[in-house]
Amino acid sequence: MSYLVAKYSPRSMKIIDGKAVAEEMKNSMKQEVLEYQKSTGRVPHLAAILVGNNPASKAYVGNKVRSCNQVGFKSTLIKLEETVSQDDLMKEIEKLNQDPDVDGFIVQLPLPKHIDEVKVTLAIDYRKDVDGFHPVNFGRMAQGLPCYLPATPYGITILLERYNIETAGKHVVVVGRSNIVGTPISILLSRKSKMGDATVTLTHSKTKNLHRILLDADIIIAAIGIPGFVKEDMVKQGAVVIDVGINRVEDESHQGPSKLVGDVDYEHVKNKCSFITPVPGGVGPMTVMGLMKNTFKSATKEIYP
Ligand code: NDP
Repeated sequence: MSYLVAKYSPRSMKIIDGKAVAEEMKNSMKQEVLEYQKSTGRVPHLAAILVGNNPASKAYVGNKVRSCNQVGFKSTLIKLEETVSQDDLMKEIEKLNQDPDVDGFIVQLPLPKHIDEVKVTLAIDYRKDVDGFHPVNFGRMAQGLPCYLPATPYGITILLERYNIETAGKHVVVVGRSNIVGTPISILLSRKSKMGDATVTLTHSKTKNLHRILLDADIIIAAIGIPGFVKEDMVKQGAVVIDVGINRVEDESHQGPSKLVGDVDYEHVKNKCSFITPVPGGVGPMTVMGLMKNTFKSATKEIYP
């Protein structure tokens, strides 16, 4: 057996278990919350605004509320009709901005077409913006200042650290340039910092020769929203593959219910990787932990005293 095959054989491929890391983090956070409660007489409080009936959004918010219960946070869920006006939504945001009992809150995306998402993001008090989407937090992140990191990129950096995956000097190829995943993770990993110092290529739908660029990647971060987009022949032997995508697809046999898959063709790509995140159970649970950590930082006034 050649050295390469021995080193990166399927047997040595490691699955990055985001679910297990998240559970571990919840257990230790639970203790910290108890101590916080003992010393302050209050518990951290996360609120979420959910507009409409999008099943995926409902499921994501449900996970966040469940995680609050598990770590001992108080949570408030505000459900608004799909037809809510921009003005009425802004009023709810202002109420949460002003409520001294709320440490942080999120407005679950996507929002209905008639709502201006940018206005919503800007209306959230940056000191309570635990999703890390407000330009104040985004700008501070880019400059390496204390801030709420966007939840998904935050979760990804925790996973890389937990699995001792070196980023310094590595070539990271990020596919997708959204404001919530692709762009911020490319900034974080290229910063001069722990879990940074990588050479990052940020790619998107207009990128030429994506196939060739991916083949040069030591670490691939896929955040595209196309099921199974990253194929086996696009991945270098031994690469680390982080799959952010969450796509609901029909079961091929058309017999079972639909299922969740990532942006990576997991079954074929996994044999080439040194590490890979599964979907579900990889990045998803860590996004929730990023949110929990930001909320706790808001309660303890670690970022904005
Ligand atoms: P967006 O839809 O906002 O952005 C998709 C990006 O992919 C865009 O930058 C787009 O390029 C790029 N893209 C589309 N087609 C191609 C292509 N053929 N080649 C290269 N790039 C392409 O995505 P999000 O970042 O919001 O989400 C991405 C995925 O991650 C989704 O499946 C989403 O559900 C999931 N997600 C998962 C989370 C988690 O916790 N695990 C959290 C957030 C999202 P362009 O800019 O040129 O249009």
